[in-house]
Amino acid sequence: MIIGIIGSGAMGAGIAQVIATAGHTVRLLDQNAEALQRAGQSIATSLQKLADKGKLTATALEATVARVHLTQNMQEFADCGLVVEAIVEDLAVKQQLFKQLEAVVGADCVLATNTSSLSIASIAAACKQPERFIGIHFFNPAPVMQLVEVIPAVQTRPGLEAEIRELVQSWGKVPVLAKDTPGFIVNRVARPFYGEAIRMLEEGIADVATIDWALTELGGFRMGPFTLMDFIGHDVNYRVTESVFAAFFYDPRFKPSFTQKRLFEAGYYGRKTGRGFYSYA
Ligand code: NAD
Repeated sequence: MIIGIIGSGAMGAGIAQVIATAGHTVRLLDQNAEALQRAGQSIATSLQKLADKGKLTATALEATVARVHLTQNMQEFADCGLVVEAIVEDLAVKQQLFKQLEAVVGADCVLATNTSSLSIASIAAACKQPERFIGIHFFNPAPVMQLVEVIPAVQTRPGLEAEIRELVQSWGKVPVLAKDTPGFIVNRVARPFYGEAIRMLEEGIADVATIDWALTELGGFRMGPFTLMDFIGHDVNYRVTESVFAAFFYDPRFKPSFTQKRLFEAGYYGRKTGRGFYSYA
């Protein structure tokens, strides 16, 4: 099956790598030509690192890279059996994209979103055939993280969720069925994790490095909350927090913080911009 991916940022590029490694032809589209070229390079570099470690042969590397077709032309998605969207976390933009996409793909093509926080039902509602719509939520970095949340919407046809779980497994990932509720499983638990860490910082209980150190060295966490937020990017993370907060009818448990909002407004997105809670200059 040929698989289309829309959005070639951090997630789209990683997802393309996973799916091409599993043997599918991938069409990777982005509206931004530079982002598309960067994605092509990052996939090649990431696969080269695996080859250097002896985890991939030179032939497999070449074949995998050749399976990823970079494009800016959505018409090339006409032969896709599945399209996974990984563009900006904005409901109206995602809905508009799926309207365009449905005019191109065949009636049997499954449509999926990698949204972190938006309701799957609300994106599906923009489609003419919402019964073929589903959430397939990867974690960052997609080639490394094993878990993939599979989220049927109320409109999703019976049986599709099982087919997608099987497909996800064939990509070497571990699927988990999640309900279409804000943040699904991981991002729901993660909101209070980040929120409480920021509140501790604001209350002067401990600084960023101490909280991260305590959680990793003593708490058994792989990454501390501030390191993780800087890694994800405050542009993405802040939007997800706002979205989950609103989706839970403004439940104070999920309230965003001004500390993170100011980082977001300043463009201090973390690793990707060289500055967030930490400085990466
Ligand atoms: P990103 O900003 O790195 O990449 C998004 C890409 O989409 C950009 O290259 C942009 O040019 C492109 N784009 C935007 N609008 C487009 C359109 N209309 N048509 C074509 N391309 C378009 O973002 P990301 O971190 O890869 O996140 C993408 C999606 O995945 C979001 O929905 C996000 O919530 C979700 N997600 C992110 C993470 C994470 O940790 N970053 C984890 C899981 C899911």
